[in-house]
Amino acid sequence: MLNKPRLLTPGPTPLPERVRLALAEDMIHHRKPGFKKILLETEGMLQKLFGTAQPVLPLSCSGTGAMTAAVHGLFAPGEKVIVINGGKFGERWGKIAATRGLKIVEIEVEWGQAVTPAQVEQALREHDDAKGVLMQVCETSTAAQHPVEAVARLTRTRDVLLVADGISAVGISPCPMDAWGIDCLLTGSQKGLMVPPGMALLSLSERAWKRAEAIPASCFYFNLVAERDNLLKGQGLFTSPVNLIVGLHASLSMIFENGDMNDVYRKQWALTCMVRTGAQALDLRLFAPAHYAWGVTSIALPSGVDGDRLLKVAADDCGIIFAGGQDYYKGRMVRFGHMGWVDWSDVLAGLHALAYALRASGGFSASRDYLETALAAYHRALDVEPGRVIPDVRS
Ligand SMILES: *Cc1c(COP(=O)(O)O)cnc(C)c1O
Repeated sequence: MLNKPRLLTPGPTPLPERVRLALAEDMIHHRKPGFKKILLETEGMLQKLFGTAQPVLPLSCSGTGAMTAAVHGLFAPGEKVIVINGGKFGERWGKIAATRGLKIVEIEVEWGQAVTPAQVEQALREHDDAKGVLMQVCETSTAAQHPVEAVARLTRTRDVLLVADGISAVGISPCPMDAWGIDCLLTGSQKGLMVPPGMALLSLSERAWKRAEAIPASCFYFNLVAERDNLLKGQGLFTSPVNLIVGLHASLSMIFENGDMNDVYRKQWALTCMVRTGAQALDLRLFAPAHYAWGVTSIALPSGVDGDRLLKVAADDCGIIFAGGQDYYKGRMVRFGHMGWVDWSDVLAGLHALAYALRASGGFSASRDYLETALAAYHRALDVEPGRVIPDVRS
């Protein structure tokens, strides 16, 4: 009871009080005017969030459900897709595509790196029968960010749909669907959006809708065309996740009543600079040195540091819950989440917990001023245009 628990993971993320209170409201009926009003108001804010004039469909499922709905709704068995696999979630695209019976061309990307547009261009040239490119905006397992805008420049001039898993990017770093030419952008409720898990959001471009309309529905539940037709009437296809939509209405209202997405992006960029600078000041190595995410930072632990113990000490002694590495990197990596309802003071607490737990699990750092250094990077970053200046504590 000594410490306030702080969830610094790449989802689920902490909830603002306004969202928690909204979630606690009594039930309203999903086919009556009160809900319809909330859903349509939410829809207007979701279009601003996604940067699209297209409808954004709420689906009752986790983020993987939306990935599944996209693959089944946009591609028919036997069609070819290019999958960018730079970690656990890229790998998941391949698994979902395989269950749909698609032919898969995989571009394997080393963990911690981003795919290059040249690699995608080459794959598109070698496979001019490919119908889609499936990728992450941010590969959350490594905290590397893929160059979606550049890939979209390649796909939008071809008859190839770009499907972008933005689960750890939408509401965290800029990813404007229409301006970039993304054909399917999807996310989940529990990462940047400050809402509990259980709901996914998905939007399709005009040409992706044409494709969805031409492909026979493969399953009864995920029928994007029927879902869209209901949404335009202010309803879901089945019983809507009423509380989650009420919660999402509250969280998006918090963003748009006091500003716009640029304020969120500025904050996310500054927190990223703060965590990266703090970790480097502790002589820790950043796992994704370039092309990094704005909502999670992956930190490679030196050999000799017991990563599982580090996570346990941070949680038990400091109240800070980090995520660890996955697969080979389990026990060798800390994934420090700074997305959603997280601010500089949470990150300050997180950096202290990181230093404390590092020392308690076999690591060492002589730094006494890592917190001041990190805070200075935060303030410097707030003053510049997001994405322009890469912090380097040693310069
Ligand atoms: C969290 C995450 C997922 C998985 O989402 P679930 O809600 O657990 O199904 C998929 N892709 C990315 C990029 C994620 O960050």
